[in-house]
Amino acid sequence: MAKLIDVFFGCRHARYSFPVTIRGTARRPQAGALTGTYVVCLECGREFPYDWQEMKVITSPSERREYVASLATKQAA
Ligand SMILES: [Zn+2]
Repeated sequence: MAKLIDVFFGCRHARYSFPVTIRGTARRPQAGALTGTYVVCLECGREFPYDWQEMKVITSPSERREYVASLATKQAA
């Protein structure tokens, strides 16, 4: 039943693995390419970028855009 709910309503991504830092490796999963760190949802197995500075998981496209924008601001400053 939980699986069925995931299919129709999407996973809430409530539980994650410990963040995995992949900086320095040649092959980087897409999720980790943004921050260099990613977590895996223990419910559905999807990978998400993880921001160590903010201590949060970046799950939505809008958060992803914000993160990229903040990176650009930091580089400009
Ligand atoms: Zn999930």
